[in-house]
Amino acid sequence: MHELETRHYVAGEFVAGDATPLVVVNPATDAPLATIVGASAALATRAAEANAAATREMRVLSTLKRVELVRRLAAGIRSNGVQLAALLTSESGKPIVESRGEVEYAASFFENAAAAAEVAAGELPASRVADRRVLVLREPIGATVAITPWNFPLAMIARKLAPALAAGCSQVVKPAEETPLTALAFARIYEQVARETGAPMAAFSVVIGDPPTVAGALISHPSTRKLSFTGSTEVGRILAAQCAPRLIKTALELGGNAPFIVFADADLDRAVEQAMLSKFRFMGQTCICANRFLLAASIADEFLARLEARVRALATAIGDPTLESTRMGPLINDAALAKVEAHVADAIARGARLRVGGKRREVAGFSRRFYEPTILSHTDPSMLCACEETFGPVVAAMTFHSEAEAIVLANAVPYGLAGYVMTQDADRLLRVVESLDFGVIGANDGAPSTAEAPFGGRKDSGLGKEGGTHGLDAYTDLKYVSLRVRPQ
Ligand code: ADP
Repeated sequence: MHELETRHYVAGEFVAGDATPLVVVNPATDAPLATIVGASAALATRAAEANAAATREMRVLSTLKRVELVRRLAAGIRSNGVQLAALLTSESGKPIVESRGEVEYAASFFENAAAAAEVAAGELPASRVADRRVLVLREPIGATVAITPWNFPLAMIARKLAPALAAGCSQVVKPAEETPLTALAFARIYEQVARETGAPMAAFSVVIGDPPTVAGALISHPSTRKLSFTGSTEVGRILAAQCAPRLIKTALELGGNAPFIVFADADLDRAVEQAMLSKFRFMGQTCICANRFLLAASIADEFLARLEARVRALATAIGDPTLESTRMGPLINDAALAKVEAHVADAIARGARLRVGGKRREVAGFSRRFYEPTILSHTDPSMLCACEETFGPVVAAMTFHSEAEAIVLANAVPYGLAGYVMTQDADRLLRVVESLDFGVIGANDGAPSTAEAPFGGRKDSGLGKEGGTHGLDAYTDLKYVSLRVRPQ
């Protein structure tokens, strides 16, 4: 990987855009990184057509070849890991240590999907009658579309593309306009791996442009059979409505509002450790970051005092995200900063108490989007920081007095992506895990994401699961064949 790729990858080749230019900016420095000439609806339609043609090739590719393609993509990501991580940091502001973690995470999706495809099997359920066999075939669902967010520029593509290819589908990806360069760098890896393995060059495409225009062209193409989207609930609803007329399958991983419950019997040091992991990864900008800290009243002060010590230490590691020592970079854009500032101001105006942080951090020579890790205590469910997802480095803490109250508070939001529970009482752990209405639970674990687990939300957080064998299932359709056997 040498100079930045700024062209779209369509029908197995890199092609220039034909619509409005888009400047990709480094959120840490405000420096323009590249200009991408966006794709028009016509170019997006070309990508959808190539996707449809490639899916016919993918269907007949042997499992061995598909698995080889997917495994080689993992290897390609790893061998280009240094450059990919640097690019990811430059366009997202993610600390370089985390970007390297994301590269690993992305590679693990390809390895996991390859392993799942290798053992995927149809079914032959026992027939009720002697002259019939019931065959259940697993078939790829066909041409698919993925729309991905900026917070995991590589891993969200991996989570969708790896099972798609492993199952024998093709996919066009529309990455977020904030972070298209990582996607295009990955497209170069794909091009090379496909060429070397003899896999269809056009089974993966990347197009970037005005989101409604590009997404509209991709979804409305008659061959598109599935949309996988990760992003906001608002956009998820729009896209689901666009998929509805043709009953296109959807996987929607949408916003969350994760509760982080700490019971009085929790190991507090461990709970603090997990809270730091859950809350401050990528400055609080992941969809499973803890948003509401629900603390047993008897340990709330002690927990917050220990957390505060860790937060003060973290605040000394804010700065240039390209440095090894940095743990917190800038927020992604001005809107993200404005939201964090508005949530903190609203909470304080309504009676929350600021323990630490609560303001921007000036970093000489860098952008104004750095925000200190923050702890607010005495928050309540009416505050913006509790009823909306802040998507920033803000702990919003409130207290509870009983297990039942904790569960009611935790579930009292329209979202259902991730929830966390910290307790050493095994009975309570299981009771609470079973009562939480969320798709992903961190039980004494602040970082539950992993390639082999089914990931996805409930309620307004969306539908469908990605990851593990369930990820492969989501790109597979079952065909039932009733076979009559004439007796001799
Ligand atoms: P966020 O608020 O985190 O940026 P969005 O839901 O706005 O989340 O964006 C997630 C993805 O959805 C991005 O790739 C973005 O370009 C895309 N997107 C945003 N609006 C639309 C839309 N109206 N139609 C299709 N895609 C969209």
